[in-house]
Amino acid sequence: SAKRSGRNQWCYFHQSQDESSPERLRLEADIHQAVKRQEFELHYQAQFSACGRRMNGTECLLRWQHPERGMVSPGEFIPLLEETGLIAEVGIFVIEQACRSIRGWREQGLPEDFSVAVNISARQLSDEYLLSETERLMEAYDVPPGMLELELTETSLMEEPTHARRLFEGLRAIGVRIAIDDFGTGYSSLNYLREFAPDILKIDKSFVDPIVESTRDRDLVAGIIQLAHTLRIKVVGEGIEEEAQRAILEEVGCDWIQGYLLARPQPITEFEQLMVDYGVIQGDTVQTSP
Ligand code: C2E
Ligand code: MG
Ligand code: MG
Ligand code: MG
Repeated sequence: SAKRSGRNQWCYFHQSQDESSPERLRLEADIHQAVKRQEFELHYQAQFSACGRRMNGTECLLRWQHPERGMVSPGEFIPLLEETGLIAEVGIFVIEQACRSIRGWREQGLPEDFSVAVNISARQLSDEYLLSETERLMEAYDVPPGMLELELTETSLMEEPTHARRLFEGLRAIGVRIAIDDFGTGYSSLNYLREFAPDILKIDKSFVDPIVESTRDRDLVAGIIQLAHTLRIKVVGEGIEEEAQRAILEEVGCDWIQGYLLARPQPITEFEQLMVDYGVIQGDTVQTSP
């Protein structure tokens, strides 16, 4: 690979240098330690009905509390987990935490129509244990069908269509709901909407951002919602930061919304207080924090 044109050589060099930079190698060493030392935890971002008054679910978002650097963002460490193959183990950890939370909250009165969503990355689609582990954990924590939701991006579906298809069938059989995350940012193929028949589409923040200023963008989002509803798919608007965006989404029939306007991702203790405030669990029982 050394015998390349000048331009390619530069690219090659540039790339390998990037991947072996001291900074990068350090993080890679640290992430192995992180798994052993259990430095990962979940934060929870609430999901609401479009009117903003009813909390109907939550998304689990992974956090890495690095001993020296503090909080490392998932944008930085998820790719590392994928490249090192650690994502399989950490992915199961996330599903177990989600199932454990569901069991704890149900003991505090959480209704069964509340959904708890977990993100799955492309690499996990080919993990042969993902399905059986999910099934085992749902049984162990007595999770009713429909409460656990897995979010997959459209990009990962296009990258791993065969694995995705098999996984979808398996997940459906054990009562796990499937959401397409960041909808609109990948290929947005109508073919996979037909073929995979997801339960939920999450419209990416970049589509929601301009809907107040631009009627064209508003119409596009309205059209996506109509299409989804025709296929009996529910829609979540992501990244809602302004009241004006919320109002428009409610008007065009968006089912659920998520964003800083209503709630940021929070550590479990604070999130449970929010659940109490919205009346989805009772307050004066024991904490469920692990
Ligand atoms: P995502 O699944 O699309 O999650 C939404 C991201 O947008 C989250 O970032 C969330 O904190 C952020 N967000 C939510 N509302 C707003 C808003 O109103 N404004 C803005 N500016 N941002 C908002 P976060 O937590 O940094 O996660 C980034 C991505 O990392 C996630 O995107 C997801 O793809 C991935 N990720 C997070 N946790 C996991 C995990 O457990 N497993 C896997 N495989 N991926 C994960
Ligand atoms: Mg997500
Ligand atoms: Mg998203
Ligand atoms: Mg995203």
